[in-house]
This record gives sequence, C-alpha cells and structure tokens, in this order.
Amino acid sequence: MLLTRRGFIGRAALAAGGVIAGSSAIAGFSGSALGASQQTVSATTGMIADTASVIGGNLVSVSALMGPGVDPHGYRQTRSDIVAMARADLVLRHGLYLEAQMEEFFADLSRRGKVVAVADTIDPSLLLSHEDYPGRYDPHVWMDPELWKTVSATIASALKTALPGQAGVIEERLAAFTGELDALDAYSMQVLDSVPENARVLVTAHDAFSYFGRAYGFEVLGIQGISTASEAGLARIAELVDTLVERKIGAVFVESSVPDRNMKALIEGAGAKGHDVVIGGELFSDAMGQSGTYEGTYLGMIDHNVTTIAAALGGTVPDRGRLGQLQAAG
Ligand SMILES: [Zn+2]
Repeated sequence: MLLTRRGFIGRAALAAGGVIAGSSAIAGFSGSALGASQQTVSATTGMIADTASVIGGNLVSVSALMGPGVDPHGYRQTRSDIVAMARADLVLRHGLYLEAQMEEFFADLSRRGKVVAVADTIDPSLLLSHEDYPGRYDPHVWMDPELWKTVSATIASALKTALPGQAGVIEERLAAFTGELDALDAYSMQVLDSVPENARVLVTAHDAFSYFGRAYGFEVLGIQGISTASEAGLARIAELVDTLVERKIGAVFVESSVPDRNMKALIEGAGAKGHDVVIGGELFSDAMGQSGTYEGTYLGMIDHNVTTIAAALGGTVPDRGRLGQLQAAG
C-alpha cells in the first residue's frame, strides 16, 4: 500500500502561480560586491549548498564538501574540508545519518556550536524507514520537494541566526524558493500522473527513491547490493524480470555510481521473455549534476529526474522539462 500526496495536487497547483526562472534567477539577487558582513557557509551536500546559496544570496559565500557524483554515505572529511569547516561561520550538514562516516567528526564540531543538521527538523512521522539504516530513518528526503521545504526553512533559520540584521531579505528569498518548490511539486505530480498506472514502477540501481515513490504514487524497486554471481542475486534478478514482463514496464534507470551489469541482466532477461526494456536514462540520486548547469541545482536535479522518469515510462512531458532548461536528451 502506498501513501501518496496525490490528494493535494489542487493545493500545490494553486501554489504554482508565481513561477520564476530557476534558482539561478533567485541567486541573481546577488551581484553586489562582497559585503564585510558576508557569512561563509560550509555545506556537506550540493543540495544543501545550492539551497543555502539561493536563500542567502549575496549575504553568504557557500561551498560544498561533496561535488557531483560523490556518494555521501561513504564520504569522509578531507584535511581541506576540516579547514573549511573550522573557518566557516556556519556549517550545514544533512543529518539523518546520511554522512555516516562523519558522525564522530560532527559530534566534535557541534560542541563548538555553528553546526546545523538541516534534515533533522523534519517531523519523524513524515520519515520512512530504510533497511540499510536499522533503527534509523531513510535520509533521502531531498527526493520530495514538499519535505525539502522544511529543510529550506531550517537553512533560512540558521542564516537568520547568523545574520540577524538580514532576516527580512532572507525570509523574502525563502518565500520565493518555497514557491519554486511548490511549482516543482505541482509539475512533478502533473507529468508523473500522465504515466499509465500500471507503469508507475521505478526500477533503479540504488535505494534513494522511496520518498519520491511515496510522494507521487510510484512503486520503487532497487537492485543495489545484488550480485549476479550469487544464487540469491540470480533469484532476485529473475523476480524483477517477471515484474517487468507482467507489468509491461518498459524502462529501468541507471545511476552513474552503480555498475550497469545488473541492469543488463534485467534487460536481457525480459528480452528472453519477449518483453523489450530500455534504459530510461540516468538519474541523479545522491548528488546533483555538474556545477554551473541547471542540473547542478536542486530544482534542476529534481526536474531532470521527474522528466526523465515520466518520459521513459510513457508519460507526457514538455520539451526539456518544467522550465525548458534541461539539457537535450542523448
Ligand atoms: Zn543514497
């Protein structure tokens, strides 16, 4: 049984009125010379860094520890990261045990203040469990723009604490970004709703999409950790092949960090049963696209994922996504 937010589409669509052209446009408030009171912010993931840049604008100078393609679950701080965080006025981390290899480091750093775990403010009743995190929650909350609104508000609060004289402008930018998140959510519901109901199954390499699945009514099947060399792995592949064939699912999705051997086994297995499956595209799971591109922003990352998934599974999508800014496919 899937809990979804589909019932809220009307509310989200209403909120979608004030669309502006991507987070870079909001960030474009900046441009004045760096003020003396500018705060340096060190963030762990790109998603947090981008959001802090958008909301902080010219008031902050933000750097991210983890660039495109970096796996946050296994990331350990480098010597230069430690220097950057020690010097920063504010350190923003994700929390929810995402930065599993940095927990001790952050426990130490927190004693000196200035560290905010931005996803820890989400109401636990809205969080999902995850088999890789026994006794903890699934940390991949950025996959649901509605949850990211809470994270964004926490980032704004942290910035207001650091820059109390700038609360007004920070709140204005937060409101603008929240409007963008609502518009992104409404767009996601619209294009994902155009996918035929029996095809609303997302087969991906790693288990990052549970919040996406809950928000938009998709079943999510991950194949991470399965080795085609083991009997259990072969049984799981066979099971997934049957699902693809029975439900006439036409596409599976890759992530750059995961070997495509398992995906090839799925495609070949389905093909042997007379059902054609293609690779529907590459999704951004735990890191954004290249910096300086639309896909290298939070809004662009989610737009890319949603548009790629909907298009590959038979939905109707606008050319190049919500704002016409996605890179052309292929
Ligand atoms: Zn992950």
